[in-house]
Parts: sequence; C-alpha cells; structure tokens
Amino acid sequence: MGKLLIVGTVAFDAIETPFGKTDKILGGAATFIGLAASQFDVDSAIVSVVGEDFPEEYLNLLTSKNIDLSSLEIVKGGKTFFWEGKYHNDLNSRDTITTELNVLADFNPVVPENFKDANVVMLGNLHPSVQMSVIKQMDKKPDLIILDTMNFWMDNALEELKGVIKEIDILTINDEEARQLTGEYSLVKAASTILKMGPKYLVIKKGEHGALLFHDDKVFFAPALPLEEVFDPTGAGDTFAGGFSGYLAATKNTSFNNLKNAVIHGSNLASFSVEKFGTERMENLQRDEVNKRLHQFKTLTQFDIEL
Ligand code: AMP
Repeated sequence: MGKLLIVGTVAFDAIETPFGKTDKILGGAATFIGLAASQFDVDSAIVSVVGEDFPEEYLNLLTSKNIDLSSLEIVKGGKTFFWEGKYHNDLNSRDTITTELNVLADFNPVVPENFKDANVVMLGNLHPSVQMSVIKQMDKKPDLIILDTMNFWMDNALEELKGVIKEIDILTINDEEARQLTGEYSLVKAASTILKMGPKYLVIKKGEHGALLFHDDKVFFAPALPLEEVFDPTGAGDTFAGGFSGYLAATKNTSFNNLKNAVIHGSNLASFSVEKFGTERMENLQRDEVNKRLHQFKTLTQFDIEL
C-alpha cells in the first residue's frame, strides 16, 4: 500500500458565496487533501496544528477516513488557524477577508516515525518554513514531493518559498499565482520560468477552466467537468491536490502518462467538492459516484478525428 504524508492547514473557515454564508466550519488545505486522498488505497497522515477550540467531531471525521493524526498537534489554550473568504459572482475569484495564523505562527512540525519513508509527500498550503522542515525530516528521498501554495505566502515569505520550490518534484498552483510568482502573463512563459526554478513538473489549476500539466516541452490539458451547480469553490484546489497525490501514492508510478491520469483524478474529485459548502460533499462521497463521473470525464474529452 502507498504511503502519503500530508502537510497543510487544518482550519476553521467562514465562507460567503452568492448562495449563502457560513459561520466557522471545518476547512484547511490538509483537511481537503486528506478527504480527497482517502478515495484511494493509501495510508495517509496529516502533519499540522490546531488549537484547543478544535472540535473532537472533526478529528473523528478525519480518523474515520483512515488518516493518521498522531502528528496533528493540539495546542492547549491555543486558537485554530482561521480563514474567511468571499466569492465574487463569477465564483472564479474571491477576496480573502481574514487570515488569522493563531497556533500556526509558532508551529514546529514533527513527522511521524512510520511516515518518514512515505513514497509521496504532499506539502499543502502553509508556511514554507514548515514545508521545508518536513522535507528535511524524511529518512529517504520520497518518489515525489509535491507542493501547493498560495499568494499569501508569496506576499509574506517569498524567499523561503523559493527555497522550498528548489527541493520539490511537482508544483501545483493556480493561474494567478503562477503569474504572481513569475511576473509573466502568458501561462506558457510562466511555466517555462517555474520549471527552471526546480520542479520537473508543474500543474497550473484554472478553476472552472481545467488544469494544465507541464513537463519539459510537453503539455497536457484536462478540462473541469461542466457542472450545473457550483455552490462553493473553497478547497477545490486542495481537493485536486489530494486526488492527484493520493492517486500517485497508490499507483507508485511517476511516468508522465500516469501523471496525466492523476490530473484527471484530481479534477474529478474537485468537481464534487464544489457542490456543497466546505467539506460537506467530500465527507460521504462514495467510490461508485467517483467512478461514474470518471466515465463522464472520458466521454467529455475523447474524440475520433482523422489526421
Ligand atoms: P483553496 O480553495 O483550495 O485555495 O483552499 C482553501 C483552503 O485553504 C481553506 O480551507 C483555508 O482554510 C485554507 N487557507 C486559506 N488561506 C491559507 C493560507 N494562507 N495558508 C494555508 N491555508 C490557507
């Protein structure tokens, strides 16, 4: 069985979309990654931190998905990371209203002994120095180190972030972040700049416009499934990362062709995540629903053309 080590925030989110508003609900990059990766046959563990205010029912939800939480630190008297976001009418763009680091500000990650040989490490969104510390604690070089990040860390810890980007195999970011990181408007130029910064592969996520996978001179594109209703895009990027990394950890195959499949699995799972607020849709997602949608993906993208 594959082993996936996940790093990222476990959080409270408050979300406003054109369809409604939530109080503090379960969120965080590692949460979405873990829930998505649990669709595959992998052993996974989350390295993260929460405060004493974090409800036990949320912990139970994650452990019920076979996610090892022995390295999820619970800080006595501490407050959990909090993020508040508001989406614009097109649902493709959003404003961050609040980011409260709280217990994340002084977090020293500890990788569990039994995950120091994980075959895939998914460094989800959080402080780049935490991501770097996790890489350094690994006993052996993982088959793949994948990194996801966001504009917040480009604004606040750019040099540390560039240091981590040098050490990884695959970077997954969204189109705006790729532009911010490189100063290039063209995504093709941005990709070529990023591939010179360290990673061998790059995935640029474009929300409802799908995802691009770059490697050397090769490019692969997967659309997002056209959905009748998109309710809340929060966590779509992380769910993509969870599906992508979970599939690669389970299949133990790092070929470009298998990475293409991983992009499809990531996109497929993200299409569920956006159908309800927060993690709700991912909490009870069944494998037969996932497989059915994979067939829709195949039909959507295949054509016969004589060339
Ligand atoms: P996504 O919609 O995939 O970009 O991810 C949204 C999730 O990222 C939310 O659940 C937030 O809790 C989490 N998040 C927001 N800002 C940050 C940040 N600066 N660092 C880490 N995680 C964050």
